[in-house]
Amino acid sequence: MDLSEFCRRLPKVELHVHLLGAIRLNTLAEMAGRQGAGYSADEVAELARRDAEPKGVLHILRALEQRIMRGPEDLHRIAYEYLEDAASQGVRHAEIFWNPTGATRDTGIPYAAGADAILAAFDDAKHDHGISALLIPSIDREATPEEAAEMVGWMAAHRRDRIIGLGIDYRENDGPPEAFWKAYRAAKRAGFRLTAHAGEFGCHWRNIETAIDLLEVERIDHGYTVLDNPALVQRCVERGIVFTVVPTNSYYLRTLPPDRWALDHPIRRMPGAGLLIHPNTDDPPLHRIDPERCWRMMVEDFGFDLDDLRRFMLNGILGAFIPEDDKRGLAATFAAEYDRLRAELDTAT
Ligand SMILES: [Zn+2]
Repeated sequence: MDLSEFCRRLPKVELHVHLLGAIRLNTLAEMAGRQGAGYSADEVAELARRDAEPKGVLHILRALEQRIMRGPEDLHRIAYEYLEDAASQGVRHAEIFWNPTGATRDTGIPYAAGADAILAAFDDAKHDHGISALLIPSIDREATPEEAAEMVGWMAAHRRDRIIGLGIDYRENDGPPEAFWKAYRAAKRAGFRLTAHAGEFGCHWRNIETAIDLLEVERIDHGYTVLDNPALVQRCVERGIVFTVVPTNSYYLRTLPPDRWALDHPIRRMPGAGLLIHPNTDDPPLHRIDPERCWRMMVEDFGFDLDDLRRFMLNGILGAFIPEDDKRGLAATFAAEYDRLRAELDTAT
């Protein structure tokens, strides 16, 4: 047993992963290569190039919505394959973002048909691989606030048990959280759990504050710039807000010098400030990462130790949108498994 195997077998939840960003690269190539998508063979190869650096992935997500995907069966395949891969890496439970606005407007998949295809994949993956999953429809903040409110209307009109909450993603720079307060208010009234991407791409801490105070979210996705405001950090600590962080976040890969990247990355300072963080893969194949490497990066790149990983593991359960009663049992199971794995690792090293 080495650190890789430890991180792979570590029982984990994933709270921050985007359905389209979780597409296997060979599936992406296969779908993009279909007649009608309009890609040349070279372009298909480029899309799925394995050795490429993780660059901005938003244009690939948009291409999937606008050109590459065809129908609900594509959503089913992407969801099932992600869950199969995640389960093989020790992920026991995943909460997955999906953008119904683009699916409906650009791909032509109506909300209920798309959601039901994804939920059917959840059933199949649970049956075949034992992994559980919840779906979080997510606002496309590059679309209008009215489209966001319309999407929440679909969620309320087509209730499904495992459609648990509302998120928001895509480019934060021109889509501040306050623009979407109506959608969040309606989702809360309808009983959905709430989370939001905020403080990604170096965006101001104000977006995190707004997400908490105006949108009333329960957890924050990314949230790195919270560190720029110690009083806000303190409030997040007191409220026990879980931050779903992404070690491969492309903004810091792009903006920090390679020799300082891991040293200056805010993830490194968040736990020391008292914040509850939980590492996630975000868009795993597109970021050239998987859960094992994601957790290993927390040790090898960001300098955390194995006791920290145990805390991060339990933070994931704390932040999950599962019933409170289930959390206690799951935490006990995960902790016992962690301790067994740790003993094996300690014996081996
Ligand atoms: Zn994300």
